[in-house]
Amino acid sequence: MDDILAEALAAAAPHRAAGKVADYIPALAKVDPSKLGIAFADKGGRVWGAGDCDEPFSIQSISKVFTLALALDRVGAKLWERVGREPSGSAFNSIVQLESERGKPRNPLINPGAMVVTDQLIGDRPGEAAIADLLALLRAQARDESVTVDEEVAHSEAATGARNRALAWFMKSFGMLSNDVETVVEAYFRQCSVAMSCRQLARAGLFLAFDGRDPESGVEVTAWHRARRINSVMMLCGHYDNSGEFAFRVGLPGKSGVGGGILAIAPGHGSIAVWSPALNASGTSAAGAAALEALVERTGWSVFF
Ligand code: GLU
Repeated sequence: MDDILAEALAAAAPHRAAGKVADYIPALAKVDPSKLGIAFADKGGRVWGAGDCDEPFSIQSISKVFTLALALDRVGAKLWERVGREPSGSAFNSIVQLESERGKPRNPLINPGAMVVTDQLIGDRPGEAAIADLLALLRAQARDESVTVDEEVAHSEAATGARNRALAWFMKSFGMLSNDVETVVEAYFRQCSVAMSCRQLARAGLFLAFDGRDPESGVEVTAWHRARRINSVMMLCGHYDNSGEFAFRVGLPGKSGVGGGILAIAPGHGSIAVWSPALNASGTSAAGAAALEALVERTGWSVFF
């Protein structure tokens, strides 16, 4: 595995130049674009890493996968009354479909869909309860109590989040949000601002590769049918208008974040996290996707194998 990870990073390294660091969130614009890390967690809970795999980065939209698991556990299938599960073919922060589809976001992994999920996870509790749930899940699954919110990134997002607020107000006008807009966006900005390393993230996502169970302890994190459905949504919607390209090249359920991380799930094998901050035009890490492509080519872990 050490060799495979080193080879994946070597194949990916030249692709760093093909991307651009997210700069619409000022705190993210400061990240060094040459960073490149990868980690793999296996069914024994063992974690391998290479490159900058121990450096925490902003997980951004990768958090949407975990809040989806938590919200499904909290409210069940009724979540789907407020959010769909179709690919959007649009950018992460697009507003166009929301109008024609009467405020119901296409899927839980675009920004408006994730805000609906966060609103449902909050329920009738204070907004911070959703973040407490998220951190508890991430810390338990990463086996690391130090996982937390990067307050500088959270502040930076909140200070510049006009577009996300617009999306939330738009949905509010259609009755899709139960809580106040500011409560929902604040929690959403904070979930996106969680910082984790590749090693922590790979370990945290492991339950999705084993039908919802932490394969090391045997404890059920989410029901098997939910884990399968979360993976299906990741496969079809995890990279916005780049989801088809990612499925074509990598063939694994994955979720990108504009911090440059990608979480990819190899069902029955394990969980992979990569990080390289320079993004393609759809907000997916350019070198991160290349590393996963190289890893899958070598291991044969595509779900289409
Ligand atoms: N916090 C980011 C935003 O809402 C998340 C986008 C992403 O990671 O794709 O703009």
